[in-house]
Amino acid sequence: MRQAIMPKPGIIEFQQVADPSPKAGQVQIRVQRIGVCGSDIHVYYGKHPFVSYPLIQGHEFSGVVEAVGHGVDNIKIADKVTATPQEVCGQCPPCRRGQYNACEVLKVRGFQAPGCAQDLFVTEADKIVKLPDNFIPEQGAFVEPVAVAVHSTGQAGDLTGKNVVVSGAGTIGNFVAQACKSRGAKKVLITDISDYRLEIAKQVGIDAVCNVKNQSLEDAVKQEFGDDGFDVGVEVAGVEASLKSLVTGVGKGGTVLIVGVYEEMPKVDMSVVCEHELTVKGSMMYRHDDWVQAVEWMASGQVKTAPLDSKHFSFEDYLLAYKFIEDEGDKVMKVMIDLN
Ligand SMILES: [Zn+2]
Ligand SMILES: [Zn+2]
Repeated sequence: MRQAIMPKPGIIEFQQVADPSPKAGQVQIRVQRIGVCGSDIHVYYGKHPFVSYPLIQGHEFSGVVEAVGHGVDNIKIADKVTATPQEVCGQCPPCRRGQYNACEVLKVRGFQAPGCAQDLFVTEADKIVKLPDNFIPEQGAFVEPVAVAVHSTGQAGDLTGKNVVVSGAGTIGNFVAQACKSRGAKKVLITDISDYRLEIAKQVGIDAVCNVKNQSLEDAVKQEFGDDGFDVGVEVAGVEASLKSLVTGVGKGGTVLIVGVYEEMPKVDMSVVCEHELTVKGSMMYRHDDWVQAVEWMASGQVKTAPLDSKHFSFEDYLLAYKFIEDEGDKVMKVMIDLN
């Protein structure tokens, strides 16, 4: 089978390797689609702090089951599936608490462990998430980023009837905004500095958008929420200014949820957190249940993914996908690699 390997940043080489076969408890998947995400781009540029090269990328994917190992009876050949990428120890304190997404020795496939950028991928049956028969391959590859949104919004407490501001309208921000609506938020305002991304946010039905290049968050909040303001701010952009505006803007007793990744350590006025009795919450990836919920919300149409499907490249053109993302800047949401 074909396998794509990144020997060092900025280079992808293809090699022929033996087909991996499933051992007991494992499943062999013919990979159909792989999504390229922000963390992959960090790896491509050699800017990911926790990887070493060579590595095999790919952690957002879908495929069809081709073979199952001994003892696997709940997954059948031809099932449409995706799979969680975390390798965890099961022994450390977070794992023992069930918080295995924060395992002390967590390895994520595509980063610290080999990913799925190959024709056939073998994984443990308990990492498999089944997809509805009517899902197209693209939907399967979107489950991972949707699961990020499911998990993170689950960290923000009960969102029923709440006003929410989501800062950052890229793929994750978009799904976070949709997940807030799925969790019963009254109104969601999403902000960005890209009109293109805000247009996609409108297409998936987010209540209100604001380009913070043209309008301050404060004005937009007044316009959309009036005197009620907002109860929850979700920082997805990974930008200090955005974090500051959420901390100072959210209503007293409100919550600020951190989903973004910061290249530099942001400075925040903790006296506002103190005096306004704010809750600041973090979120780390997801757990298996979040993936199942993601599939349900996608199947019911509560979370829409099609408008985010920007462009596809063939497996051989993997590198062109990165060049496309580089050239298009903020005019791209999700780029996918087509294998089979
Ligand atoms: Zn990803
Ligand atoms: Zn652990």
